[in-house]
Amino acid sequence: AKNRGRNNFQFFSPAMNDLASRFFRLEQRLRRAVERNEFVLHFQPQVDVAQRRVCGVEALVRWQDPEAGLVPPAEFIPVAEETGLILELGEWVLRGACRQIRAWHDAGWPQVPVAVNLSPRQFQQSDLVERVRAILAETGVPPAMLELEITESSLMHSVEEALAQVQALADMGVRLAIDDFGTGYSSLAYLKRFPVSRLKIDRSFVRDLCDDRDDAAIVASIIGLARSLALEVVAEGVETAPQLAALRDEGCRHCQGYLFSKPRPAEEVAAIFAAGAV
Ligand code: C2E
Ligand code: CA
Ligand code: CA
Ligand code: CA
Repeated sequence: AKNRGRNNFQFFSPAMNDLASRFFRLEQRLRRAVERNEFVLHFQPQVDVAQRRVCGVEALVRWQDPEAGLVPPAEFIPVAEETGLILELGEWVLRGACRQIRAWHDAGWPQVPVAVNLSPRQFQQSDLVERVRAILAETGVPPAMLELEITESSLMHSVEEALAQVQALADMGVRLAIDDFGTGYSSLAYLKRFPVSRLKIDRSFVRDLCDDRDDAAIVASIIGLARSLALEVVAEGVETAPQLAALRDEGCRHCQGYLFSKPRPAEEVAAIFAAGAV
């Protein structure tokens, strides 16, 4: 059975044949995983570095494959995106994150916004706003507790539609963050028109912040830009104390990264809330 997929695609070169059959095998497994609900959410704290308090968490999906174990998103999100499965998966993530917000609220933990990643394809859905509204209503979560992370390319894809979409979400009270900021090509002029609340400095700039003057300059200018536009800024991928010190010196108030915590199951995040400080 393993080789049957290969023979169906003789018109490809052997290398493409192999790639294509791997893709289709993964697609099938992923389709089944969506039907069987084989996904879990982990949550990574975002920290207010002045108060050393958790000020938010980002929901990150993992695939609990019965055979392969915990599969990281980099291995299946691109396939989900390509095949359209991301719409169903994304809806599951959104609902799961909102249910978790509700559960933390009901358990009496201090309320912090939960960030959910939206794929470009989800963002382009014409009924996205209604779907978000329905999930918030169903879970009884105030819109301000939800933050949606979108990339620059989502915004720049078709600017007028994106603007209408972002405006409708912002009008509802949902927060919006631009993920991986600095790696895409957003126009600063457009940035001003989008009602976003925060920029997330991409991990690639934070990594060499202390050794590379160019990265340090880029980080400083993103923080400066955010300040000028009255946006919040979050640095991602903060792993070391010197990186944290450099970010603080530049005036970056919110940080996320292994230095504080890896993404963890919901129960473990509750333990961090219980501790009160990180
Ligand atoms: P992202 O949105 O940029 O998420 C941040 C990634 O950086 C996460 O990887 C996180 O575990 C990792 N990270 C956080 N702090 C550190 C650090 O200090 N050092 C290092 N080396 N890495 C750190 P993860 O969970 O593997 O997710 C990878 C990407 O998959 C995400 O990048 C996002 O683009 C996508 N993704 C994850 N969950 C979802 C989802 O529910 N929906 C969609 N559409 N995409 C998702
Ligand atoms: Ca993200
Ligand atoms: Ca990111
Ligand atoms: Ca990234």
